[in-house]
Amino acid sequence: MRKFVVAAESLAELVELGTVTPQAAQFLETAVAAGLNIIVSGGTQAGKTTLLNGLCAAIPARERVIVCEEVFELRLPNPDLVSMQTRQPNLEGAGEIPLRRLVREALRMRPSRIVVGEVRQAECLDLPTHSKSYSGLLDSAGVELAELVAVRRAALLERISDDRDGRTLGVDRQDEDCRGLAATLHWPVVEPPYIENDTSAFKRHMVTLPDGRRALRVIRPEFRHLLDDLNDGRVDGLIAYDLDRVVRDPRDLEDLIDVVEARGLQGRIKSVTGSLRLDNDADITMARVMVAMANKSSRDTARRVARAARQRAETGGFHGGPPAVGYAHVKDAAGHVIAWQIDPEQAAWLREAAERLLAGETLYGLCTDWNRQGRRTRTGAMWRSQQIKQALISAAVIGKREYAGRLYPEVGSSWEPILERVTWDRLRDLLLDPRRYERVRGAVRKHTLSGLLNCGRDGCGRRLVGQPYNDQATFICSPTSNGGCGKLRIANDALEEFVARMAFARLDAPAASVGLDAERTAVEELALRKTLTDDQAALQRVEDDHYDGVLDRPSYLRQRGRLEERMAETSARLARLTRRHVLSGVTSGAVAGKLWDERDVAWRRTLLSAVIEHIVIKPYPAGIATTLSRRKGEDELTFVRRRREHTQWVLRERVEIIWRA
Ligand SMILES: [Zn+2]
Repeated sequence: MRKFVVAAESLAELVELGTVTPQAAQFLETAVAAGLNIIVSGGTQAGKTTLLNGLCAAIPARERVIVCEEVFELRLPNPDLVSMQTRQPNLEGAGEIPLRRLVREALRMRPSRIVVGEVRQAECLDLPTHSKSYSGLLDSAGVELAELVAVRRAALLERISDDRDGRTLGVDRQDEDCRGLAATLHWPVVEPPYIENDTSAFKRHMVTLPDGRRALRVIRPEFRHLLDDLNDGRVDGLIAYDLDRVVRDPRDLEDLIDVVEARGLQGRIKSVTGSLRLDNDADITMARVMVAMANKSSRDTARRVARAARQRAETGGFHGGPPAVGYAHVKDAAGHVIAWQIDPEQAAWLREAAERLLAGETLYGLCTDWNRQGRRTRTGAMWRSQQIKQALISAAVIGKREYAGRLYPEVGSSWEPILERVTWDRLRDLLLDPRRYERVRGAVRKHTLSGLLNCGRDGCGRRLVGQPYNDQATFICSPTSNGGCGKLRIANDALEEFVARMAFARLDAPAASVGLDAERTAVEELALRKTLTDDQAALQRVEDDHYDGVLDRPSYLRQRGRLEERMAETSARLARLTRRHVLSGVTSGAVAGKLWDERDVAWRRTLLSAVIEHIVIKPYPAGIATTLSRRKGEDELTFVRRRREHTQWVLRERVEIIWRA
């Protein structure tokens, strides 16, 4: 027996009866007036129809309302009202008018609003879809609407995030809640869940889009994977904790909406908190607003932090943090760090390192030497060459701030410089020169002369390669490794000494202005630096123009390629120039000779390269003995001296040094 007891006919009466609070009634009234879609849902005898009556009473009088019901239960006061009722099939099973057909008919009647009395079956599937074109739809669902949405493979999306605003929710908890919801909905879950390890929700990366454009995007492989699976039908539903955990970037939301609409996934996207719903236009609008707001606040925070950091950089303000290598903290009376001051010991190390590196020593050799001397980092660890490099190329050592790749030279900083600007510039050229790494990756140079020697046999001219011979280092013209003639060999030690002495003598000769002309070098360096700065600025303009759409892609690529090529060439020339500064401290052959024994192979080689273009080794002179034996009655000293003179004579015959002009 169905009782038609109507106790209340308006929301006001429901309030009087204590069924709803005044606030709730006011909210509902506003929602109805605003034309929102409302579903009244609840168990048997819960008062669904009563509430629906109350809601209908709030429909503005000017609206055209169409009611579809199985039994006339609703009493609407609206003047423009059409009531329609379903009809059971007759005894022959014909003539049935189901609720779904009524809803479809109603949609053709240009209603302002449709009220469906009792949603039980398939008609509910039409409602969200059709409601797109009509604002305002009221219905009451006698059953859980979701139960009618048959999801067979539901995806769980969980997100690991390091939110600093207290919204952190562990994956375990998300997983538990999502699975709880899936169980309630009777949605089978596809394993494993889609877990995004997203500890930097707003870190953007430059990516190449399918159409070839370059743009900043938050990279979310797992989310993309999920979209693909939803699109391909591998999963047909989605459960997440809340909207925030699924999408934060409006672009991601649009992509999800596209999939939902293309695949008819309305009603199949759910969240534990209810914030994620894309079932109709109103849901989609709401989701867009929420994502846009969340996105804005995140970006505002990021922008605020960045702006504050830049401001500190611009004003040279103290930025806190651990002191750079070469500096120590200065604390106030309360123990707060207020500035950096030079740490005399470490600063001295850095100055020495700068000098040695510019003089041609390798970073690796320098680092090894530091560690061998017992020098340690502030934490007591052994030095790594990368740490030394970082310390030397950081703007801190010249007392400047660098922020986002830009140096702020116009402002003073709160700490004293350790290195001079000109030294620092040269160090950066040297240490940031990409060609360095090509060398480092290859074998470490063992012999100072490697790569400088060429075969002097007629028609050969190949580069000589090092090869041990009878426990002695030698260079040969190798047919196997270099396609050489295989007919030339020379011992290393005497040759190296000979070449070095010739180089020292060259340094003392007045003609050896090569590399020692400090003034000319400085002018050239200045010019190169200017070119480099100009090209960097030009590249920035080209990038800006391209992203602003002023410059089309082919022109952009062409201009960028041209600029990058020239910048690489300029950098390489600067690096070469920098290496020539080795000689600025080497004022005479005597100084060079003294330093020669103290420095490593790289330094020696840099010195030689500064004055020597290359060296041609000629075949051993014909008819000359290759080994000398002691003469009868000759004492040891005389023999050694005679042998040495012989060797020198042979070397003078065989070695032709091509000096740099
Ligand atoms: Zn040869």
